[in-house]
Amino acid sequence: MSDKQLHDMGVAELAAAIAAKQTSATEAAEHFLARAKAHEPLGAFLHLNPEVTLAQAKAADARRDAGETAPLLGVPLAHKDIFVTKDFPTTAGSKMLEGYQSPFDATVVDKLAGAGAVSLGKLNCDEFAMGSGNDNSAYAPAHNPWDTSRVPGGSSGGSAVAVAAGLAPAVTGTDTGGSIRQPAAFCGITGIKPTYGRCSRYGMVAFASSLDQAGPMARSAADCALLLSAMAGPDLDRDSTSLDHPAEDYSRLLGQPREGADAAQPLKGLRIGLPKEFFGEGLKADVDTAVRAALAEYEKLGATLVDISLPRTELSIPVYYIIAPAEASSNLSRFDGVKFGHRAKDYDDLLDMYKKSRSEAFGEEVQRRIMIGTYVLSHGYYDAYYIKAQQIRRLIAQDFQQAFTQCDVIAGPVAPSVAWKIGENSDDPVANYLADIFTLPTSLAGLPGMSVPAGFGEGNMPVGLQLVGNYFQEASLLQTAHAFQQATDWHLKTPAGY
Ligand code: GLN
Repeated sequence: MSDKQLHDMGVAELAAAIAAKQTSATEAAEHFLARAKAHEPLGAFLHLNPEVTLAQAKAADARRDAGETAPLLGVPLAHKDIFVTKDFPTTAGSKMLEGYQSPFDATVVDKLAGAGAVSLGKLNCDEFAMGSGNDNSAYAPAHNPWDTSRVPGGSSGGSAVAVAAGLAPAVTGTDTGGSIRQPAAFCGITGIKPTYGRCSRYGMVAFASSLDQAGPMARSAADCALLLSAMAGPDLDRDSTSLDHPAEDYSRLLGQPREGADAAQPLKGLRIGLPKEFFGEGLKADVDTAVRAALAEYEKLGATLVDISLPRTELSIPVYYIIAPAEASSNLSRFDGVKFGHRAKDYDDLLDMYKKSRSEAFGEEVQRRIMIGTYVLSHGYYDAYYIKAQQIRRLIAQDFQQAFTQCDVIAGPVAPSVAWKIGENSDDPVANYLADIFTLPTSLAGLPGMSVPAGFGEGNMPVGLQLVGNYFQEASLLQTAHAFQQATDWHLKTPAGY
């Protein structure tokens, strides 16, 4: 099989080719490892270990040759370096965890391996998943393959780069406030953040526990559905926030017309709500144009567009940037140089050791959030900031429920602009925070959200359409995205040179 074909195939196609012995897990692993090496300057990977990958591929080929079938048998995937793995180091993009080796695999990693996937390695990300451009990685920035002078988005930046540049057919990411959807949008690929609690958080280095959620990123919605079917499901003994909701086949609705619709208009009857707050001031004209063209395509597929309102959209920024740092300050307290993480070499006493270890190994953004989080949780400010933020969070979730009485799916832009230049927002954390405006409300409400490639904007950079469903509506969200991808080919476009 020619090299070209392997990285041009999606997950489903590759799995079928391996099962049919047109190629092998070993050939696929070698192919993608060679590509990862050839495109090292993109900064997608933090850890590769070809020996481990090839051993896993060999084992997958043996399973296949023994007549075993599994949905992802032999398919190479890569994981955001926030999932702990026993065969590769885990750093969460931080110097704090440099050289850390987990004794076990995260549940999501374990489940994908159980479905037959082979692991290519670990992907670059913002330190402890805090960021929007992958430029907060303590190791190296990742570069957007559509224009290497631009960010790929974050925090799952390495994940998005790997798929967009054909270094992996699909990857895992995590989304706390947009970190699957926004890099997917910036790199022109598809990603889904499921309902909070749908994928186990066991073995995911914690950032903000009430928001963190794992999900797949791939070229198409169909491939995301395949991965999500393997990743999701209850993990009640190991994750107290895991939902007791049976595992599902997320591919089951793909290609099916909605009830009462037909092949010509497969989405007939679907009401797509457009929040007026997502189309107002601040949204760049190029993104607005691409998103509206995608919505017009949806109308052709039979959907109707409905005007709705999510009145507290603006508040989601201050609310998120209180709750997420509060939880982060608590989660990161374990990195004290004793139980976990880097320990300073010279210190006077225990307190000095804590201070020096943490000051040396945490990056600027992480330290900023620890300080904000500690402040809003402190005596005297807790009620004014943290409790108030939690109250508004509840109202934001209620706004969505109100909106879902008028529509089945909510759509809008993923981000107000296309990917910015590396370094452009480095000195301005607030500019980064503001760019999260369209992804944060969904995260605060715990709803499933997707990013679907929807065309190109300024500088020929990809634009993502965001689709948000009600709780547990992942299958119909994926169906909605798939119908669009059957009618368009934005998700098949690849950056020149990759
Ligand atoms: N950009 C957001 C932040 O910096 C979201 C990150 C994420 O989803 N992990 O917190």
